[in-house]
Amino acid sequence: MISEKMRPLAENNSVIRVMFEEGKRLAAIYGAENVYDFSLGNPNVPAPDEVKESILEILEEEESAFVHGYMSNAGYEDVRETIADSLNARFGTSFGVNNILMTVGAASGLNVILKTVLEPGDEVIVFAPYFVEYGNYVRNYDGTLVVISPNTEDFQPNLEELKEKITLRTRAVIINTPNNPTGVVYSAQTLERLAEILRQKKEEFGTEILLISDEPYRELAYDGAEVPYVTRYYEDTVICYSYSKSLSLPGERIGYLVIPDELQDSSEVFTAATIANRVLGSVNAPSLMQRVIKRCIEKGAHVNLAAYDRNRNRLYEGLKDWGFSCIRPEGAFYLFVKSPIPDEQEFCRQAAKYRLLLVPGTSFACPGYVRIAYCVSYEQIERSMPAFGKLAEEYGLTEDKA
Ligand code: PLP
Repeated sequence: MISEKMRPLAENNSVIRVMFEEGKRLAAIYGAENVYDFSLGNPNVPAPDEVKESILEILEEEESAFVHGYMSNAGYEDVRETIADSLNARFGTSFGVNNILMTVGAASGLNVILKTVLEPGDEVIVFAPYFVEYGNYVRNYDGTLVVISPNTEDFQPNLEELKEKITLRTRAVIINTPNNPTGVVYSAQTLERLAEILRQKKEEFGTEILLISDEPYRELAYDGAEVPYVTRYYEDTVICYSYSKSLSLPGERIGYLVIPDELQDSSEVFTAATIANRVLGSVNAPSLMQRVIKRCIEKGAHVNLAAYDRNRNRLYEGLKDWGFSCIRPEGAFYLFVKSPIPDEQEFCRQAAKYRLLLVPGTSFACPGYVRIAYCVSYEQIERSMPAFGKLAEEYGLTEDKA
């Protein structure tokens, strides 16, 4: 029954999901506390109290027909206005209601914008390592994914290769900062150079190139790291935002797109994206969650970043002490560690013997590395350290240190 387009997807069920299942299997044998599952980016830090408070207030104070009813496909106007005002206050932008389109999380936002702009055969450029679902989203609209190889020196995007890979068919470039899986934040200098290249190429080819900034981790930045606001660097930018990580609400499916006035044909794009939201079947973002977001912004709600920061420091220092090599993440909740052997999938299999579940970099088009998601309890990190130690010993990393 299933279509040829769906068949490969059904057959290649994500590696991360497979790991998740493996975690459950091992937990049943050894006990959950003896399995160190670092495979999923599912926030362990609870949603801030303001989320529950807001839900209760809304149910008490707002009219049921309003709270649970249909609204404009772009979302409630007062919610969009609150988001625009908050962005303007924080980033010096000047967005209004008609620049914010509420979506069913970042996954939906990316699909909406890709459906809005892609013709079959159009190319969408991504920088490895990248969030694996981008490939599926681009293929949904018969686009072609073009992958730029990783810059393993500091994991800022490889802009020299970008210059070479932009063609007449390039329709969009997706960036993700703070980054999954590296934790790297793209610097202002990187964004300036990226914008310059895109402008040069648009002029050279007489085309339009959209920059899509996928930002579910924007608020998860440590040590006061600045996460530059991308619309300030390049006019043809759409921001794809989600509250999945910033308010620990991944199951609630709530986020938004920013479609700025500076974007070429902005209001036409906004209207088309609103219709894309509808015809893709989401119709509008969840109503109750939109109302919750408005109140959470007004209350200044934010997730407990200190908990992730504590995990980050413990894990980074612990792995370095065992002789592993990785860059210190500035944002998100992932550590990208160099595999001690080139075949990182084999390394992950060895790690699983010590009940450490890590995701191979091949899943992000970056072999030779593994991703550790540290959105887990601090206790899990503490308990896992001896297992990492044994793994390090197996690969002679501890001897190298001595
Ligand atoms: N983009 C990146 C880089 C992600 O890591 C994720 C989720 O892990 C998403 C998008 C999807 O987020 P959402 O839950 O908002 O759909």
